[in-house]
Amino acid sequence: NLFEPFKLNRQLLNAIEDAGYTEPTPIQQQAIPLAMAGHDVLGIAQTGTGKTAAFVLPLLMKVKYAQGEHPRALILAPTRELVMQIAKAATELSSHTDIRIVALYGGIGPKSQIEAVRQGVDILVSTPQRFLDIYLKGEITLKQIQTMVLDEADKMLDMGFMPQIRRILEVIPRKRQNLLFSATFQEKVEKFSHEFLEFPMRVEV
Ligand code: AMP
Repeated sequence: NLFEPFKLNRQLLNAIEDAGYTEPTPIQQQAIPLAMAGHDVLGIAQTGTGKTAAFVLPLLMKVKYAQGEHPRALILAPTRELVMQIAKAATELSSHTDIRIVALYGGIGPKSQIEAVRQGVDILVSTPQRFLDIYLKGEITLKQIQTMVLDEADKMLDMGFMPQIRRILEVIPRKRQNLLFSATFQEKVEKFSHEFLEFPMRVEV
């Protein structure tokens, strides 16, 4: 299996095998070693390139196992569908670990999501608005967050989520690793990337 050289742990390699992945895609080939080395990463990649596993695998490697109650990583994505898709991929790739992944999105009441957060969570996957709604109710403790991922950043900016993202950046710990994925690198994404990323390594497919 061509994922072996990445120094992922056995649990992740087993899940990769379960998923039927035999070799990393180009974005995975480039992004996984950089993210695992602790760099901020700017990934320009479209849906279908394997971008989700490119950020999920390093994240799972860093989080490693369930610990405490509060999330250690936050993934933001523009839509409910994408949040559910990322959470599903992360749940599958973490199936040989005890890592707890919780998805937060609109379209349903927040009650069951708040209940899930209260049970303890390692990785939160959320739309920006639903994250803020639940955070502002006092239900999410952010002090353990060490990694933040923005997926489909161009779409998030196009959909007008900048104020919510800015608000989240005001309350999230400053010392953290950041990963930003976007299908395009238009001017507003470039401008925002300077705010969000520190000495990023850029990868593009
Ligand atoms: P994504 O671009 O993240 O939406 O992924 C697109 C599809 O490719 C998903 O169905 C993944 O399960 C699949 N995929 C991701 N990485 C690999 C890989 N290394 N080998 C085969 N399929 C993959």
